[in-house]
Amino acid sequence: MNNHASTSSAELRTFSFGGGWQSMTALVLAARGELDYRTFIMANVGDDSENPGTITYLHRYAMPFAEAHGLELAVVDRVMKRTKEVRTLYQDLTREGSRSLKIPVRMSNGAPGTRSCTASFKIKVIADELKRRGATADNPATVGIGISLDEIDRANKRRCEPHERIEYPLLERGIRRIDCIRVIRSAGLPIPPKSSCWFCPFHRPEAWHEMRRTDPALFERACQLEELLNRRRDELGKDHVYLTRFGMPLRRAIPDGVDTLFDEYDSGCDSGWCMT
Ligand code: SF4
Repeated sequence: MNNHASTSSAELRTFSFGGGWQSMTALVLAARGELDYRTFIMANVGDDSENPGTITYLHRYAMPFAEAHGLELAVVDRVMKRTKEVRTLYQDLTREGSRSLKIPVRMSNGAPGTRSCTASFKIKVIADELKRRGATADNPATVGIGISLDEIDRANKRRCEPHERIEYPLLERGIRRIDCIRVIRSAGLPIPPKSSCWFCPFHRPEAWHEMRRTDPALFERACQLEELLNRRRDELGKDHVYLTRFGMPLRRAIPDGVDTLFDEYDSGCDSGWCMT
């Protein structure tokens, strides 16, 4: 016998809930007893930052479903250490005097800049919550991440705290995105929209076209955010940055009335913490 048996009995098993297809699939499988998680934790980038469709789905379908099946679905905000106030990603980007460019804005050559949004608004929020719930390096919490087999490239365990153990339950079971649709529908639930910040520069052009067509007011807000960031860049004497890879403002890069025929799946996000 070793000590592991005693520590694992108190093991905190959680799932990082992103609000998208993979997370809903995990929730349904856990409700059926096919996955061993009772606690789902969503790091909320902010109700003003997350795809509004994802927030609606969360309240209308995911939370009632979790509750009906005795699962905990906790939504955790990012709280500033010093002031204890909740800070959303959109607030962080737009607040007066902010020089913060946490999101992966694109340079004029189209390449995304480095980002810290995933680390500070997702990874750290969940890590802090696990610590608060008692996870330690000696008794780490398990965190399930919703990566499906089609996205195997996104599975990397490099972003992990000593008090966490990452696992990929969908990947291990060979579940593909197409299977996610089947699982979610089989529970009588509608398919959730893609989860991500509405202004995420990792959006594919198809996603921007769809936003312009279906939610022009939100598209306009994204254009205005890009303009605000560039007014700040002008003040600092820096090059402009963009939300798309086309090296031009969103308004011009995604012209009105242009439709796209497909939306290939590739988020450009190399972690499993966003868009799952
Ligand atoms: S969805 Fe995009 S903008 Fe939002 S936290 Fe993830 S990488 Fe950053």
